[in-house]
Amino acid sequence: MLIVQKFGGTSLAGRERILAAARIIAQAAKRGSRVVAVASAQGRTTDELIAQAISINPRATAREMDAILSTGEQLSAGFLAMALQAMGHPAVSLTGWQAGLRTDNVHGSARILGLEHDRILRELAGGKIVLVAGFQGVDGAGDITTLGRGGSDTTAVALAGFLQADLCQIYTDVDGVYDKDPRLYPDAVKFDWISYEKMRRLIAAGAQVLHDRSVELAQQFGMSLEVLSAFTGQPGTIVCGESAGQAALHGL
Ligand code: ADP
Ligand code: ASP
Ligand code: MG
Repeated sequence: MLIVQKFGGTSLAGRERILAAARIIAQAAKRGSRVVAVASAQGRTTDELIAQAISINPRATAREMDAILSTGEQLSAGFLAMALQAMGHPAVSLTGWQAGLRTDNVHGSARILGLEHDRILRELAGGKIVLVAGFQGVDGAGDITTLGRGGSDTTAVALAGFLQADLCQIYTDVDGVYDKDPRLYPDAVKFDWISYEKMRRLIAAGAQVLHDRSVELAQQFGMSLEVLSAFTGQPGTIVCGESAGQAALHGL
C-alpha cells in the first residue's frame, strides 16, 4: 500500500505540531505502508517571506520570489524528516525538484507537467519515508517554480496520481469539507463525501480549503482524496467521483 499524506501550514506550526504530524506519518509506516508525505510551510511563513522580499525590492522578479518562497516548504519537510528519524524511522526530505516534479515556467502559478519518479521510488525501495516540500517544482530551464497560494494540495495530488498511490490524505486544521466555512459559521454542515464537481463549485465560490488545481488534477487521475483533521483523528470528507460517492453511501 502506498499512501500520500499532505500536512497544511497550521498543522505544522511549531515543534509540538511537527511531532504530532510525524506521529501520524509514523503510524501509517508502522502499519506497513510506504509513505510519501507532503509538507506546507509552517503557519504564516509564506506571508512573512513575501513581506520580507517586498521590503527589499517591491519589484522583485517572479523568478527570485519563487526561489525565496520555496524555502518555507523545504524547512517543514526537513523538520518532519528529522522528527521521524528521532522516532527511529528512516526518512529523507526532498525539495520539489529533487522529487522530480516538472512544471511549466509560469513563476508564481506554475502548472505541473509530470513527475520523474525515479528518486522517490528509489528512496521508498530503500525503506525510507519520503518527505516532499510542497508548492514547488522545476521548469525546463532548471529554475525553481511555485504552484500558486495553497499549492501544496496540488503537489500531494500530483504525487499520488503519478505514483498511483492507494490513498491520498489531506491533513488540515478542520475535520473535513463543510457546506460553508465552519470557522465563520457554527451551523455549517460537514460532508461525508463530495463530488469533484461540487467541490470545484465550492472553491469557485471562495472556499479555500483545497487548491482549485488539486481537485482538477484529482478528477483527471480519478483519484479520491480524504480531507481530514491533523488534530482529532476523526474521519474526514472524501472528495471523489459521483459514482464512487454513491457506492460508498450505499455500502457497496
Ligand atoms: P491548510 O493550511 O491545511 O492548507 P487552509 O487554510 O488552506 O489549510 O484550508 C483550511 C481552512 O479552510 C479552514 O481552516 C477553514 O477555515 C477554511 N474553509 C473555507 N471554506 C471551507 C469549507 N467549506 N469547508 C471546510 N473548510 C473551509
Ligand atoms: N505555503 C504556500 C502558501 O501559503 C503553499 C501552501 O500552503 O499550500 O500558499
Ligand atoms: Mg491550504
